[in-house]
Amino acid sequence: MRATIDKCTIELQQGDITEQHVDAIVNAANSRLAGGGGVDGAIHRRGGPEIMAETRRKYPHGCPTGSAVISGAGNLPAKYVIHAVGPVWQGGGAGEAELLAGAFRRSLELAVEHDCRSVAFPAISAGAYGYPLDQAAAVALRTVIDFLRANGRPEIVRFVLFDARAYGAFAAALEQVTSENPIDRP
Ligand code: ADP
Repeated sequence: MRATIDKCTIELQQGDITEQHVDAIVNAANSRLAGGGGVDGAIHRRGGPEIMAETRRKYPHGCPTGSAVISGAGNLPAKYVIHAVGPVWQGGGAGEAELLAGAFRRSLELAVEHDCRSVAFPAISAGAYGYPLDQAAAVALRTVIDFLRANGRPEIVRFVLFDARAYGAFAAALEQVTSENPIDRP
């Protein structure tokens, strides 16, 4: 499924983000940038030790929740990995939505600063961090659409969803967001 925002495209795809041939893939990292399970584990496993060596050197204090940092991509087909730190879900009253939006916004800013034309995101916070998938999808898509409207870049933002449940949640959220806020949906 896809939607166009001005000259930019948002795409939804089911798959493994480590296989994406895009300028940057986004990691759902933790604030210590210490690696872990889920998408983070897959990225470091397939990308090799270079990625963590670089983040340790450049970001020894880690990255605050709601923000992101960037590194090379080691053995992965992408050029960069953007390590975004989403919030742990605590019931919704602890600023989770703003923190999740911040992680997406900062990732997009870093992508633009590094001339990335295509960026792939996973469903940040919606795995081990427990963010309800439908709400995570709505925040993710609204934040990306607002950013593309304001900045006109990156050209392609792709959400790579690991399973059919995540894909379905993002597809429903994209329908919802685009019907509230009409944009082209070829
Ligand atoms: P968080 O700790 O931010 O919740 P997780 O990695 O636990 O991060 O989960 C985030 C989402 O990424 C989940 O929907 C999970 O199913 C998905 N995921 C796990 N591995 C991959 C992968 N290789 N590619 C894309 N998405 C993945």
